[in-house]
Amino acid sequence: MDNTLIDSKPVMSNLDFETVQNVAILGATGTIGIQTLDVMSQHPQRFNVFALTANSNVKSMFDLCEQYAPKYAVMLQAQAATELDAQLKAVGINTIVLHGEQALVEIAAHAEVDTVMAAIVGAAGLLPAMAAARSGKRILLANKETLVMAGNLFMRAVEEGGATLLPIDSEHNAIFQVMPNQRAKSLEKMGIKRVLLTASGGPFRNASLDDMSTVTREQALNHPNWVMGPKITIDSATMMNKGLEVIEAHWLFNASADQIDVVVHPQSVIHSMVEYNDGSVLAQLGNPDMRTPIAYGLGFPNRLESGVSSLDLVKIGRLDFLPPDFERFPCLRLAYDALRAGGTAPAILNAVNEIAVEAFLADRIGFMDIPSMIASVLATSVIEEVVSIEQLTKVDTEARQAADLWLQNHV
Ligand code: NAD
Ligand code: MG
Repeated sequence: MDNTLIDSKPVMSNLDFETVQNVAILGATGTIGIQTLDVMSQHPQRFNVFALTANSNVKSMFDLCEQYAPKYAVMLQAQAATELDAQLKAVGINTIVLHGEQALVEIAAHAEVDTVMAAIVGAAGLLPAMAAARSGKRILLANKETLVMAGNLFMRAVEEGGATLLPIDSEHNAIFQVMPNQRAKSLEKMGIKRVLLTASGGPFRNASLDDMSTVTREQALNHPNWVMGPKITIDSATMMNKGLEVIEAHWLFNASADQIDVVVHPQSVIHSMVEYNDGSVLAQLGNPDMRTPIAYGLGFPNRLESGVSSLDLVKIGRLDFLPPDFERFPCLRLAYDALRAGGTAPAILNAVNEIAVEAFLADRIGFMDIPSMIASVLATSVIEEVVSIEQLTKVDTEARQAADLWLQNHV
């Protein structure tokens, strides 16, 4: 038998995509972006890398362009785009290089794009995600900040634009997977009592409050279960990440704050759960590897190979569950409070958190100053009803200014 021939045969799928999907990855050089490319490259017959975007990392973007030859590459920074363009031209790669916020928005809404992976970190991801929603794309949403800031506007844009929204955050992806196929507008109509978000508890799950006030940047960046970008890793250490996810769950599943519970589950094997009226609790399990939710989003409603290894429950041995500690993790409480306050409160929480995390990463403030700064700015902010993206942009800017002022007074 000619093994060479067998090996070189194209791998035919058991799935039936009619056409190759053109994918735009926003935040391609980040941890989610790279893992998305990893899953896509396991299915080259289904997915085409159409556009890649990044903030300023020319070296990473050059390597990705060399490997995937996208039609477009977008850098936020103009200088980075100029450098990238020159480097690509020098080696004969004819990727079209664009730059700036407007180019990110145009790529997200580009007529040839079928699927947008929204994986920019922070508030910067909002406008491109909105553009993808308005233009009816299939949106794989990793950028939770979009929903935290502008949940009502974004969900409306998804509906009006005819977009398909697939949550990539592992908890929300898990909940999505265990909800009925026939979606209803409310949890009640689906017979769902509540959703349970699992949380690893991060690196300081067992630390005392005293210890937490003196932790270093390196300790906070050392997440026990997940490899992620620096911002979300710090958010996981403060549990603000879970707080942002509570708000995210509110908008995605039309769940009230009272219908969303957090359970600390150190092994990160159960990615989240849904409790039905009859007492059934449905969970999605797997190894903590973002390629599972990414593959789910790319393949939906079919299942794709992701490269994730099989879950070895016997090796894991036990699964533990603990209540969240709102005293040591005030960020989680602040997020619930912001959700209950409604309006622009979550957008303010998000903006101040971004400044606080940056300041912590720059060694300008201590770990427990993060919740203090957020609480202080929220307490002095006027909360308004959310009416437009322009208003939210202004609210975001003003909250950052208030956070900067707090910094000036405290460092
Ligand atoms: P990351 O820091 O690794 O990557 C961020 C990406 O966004 C990079 O490509 C960067 O170039 C780009 N970027 C940064 N600032 C930008 C700006 N101002 N304008 C345009 N692009 C910019 O982050 P990540 O860990 O991949 O996370 C991305 C998003 O996904 C975040 O919202 C995060 O909360 C969410 N998420 C991540 C994980 C994970 O496992 N990493 C899990 C769940 C959700
Ligand atoms: Mg998550």
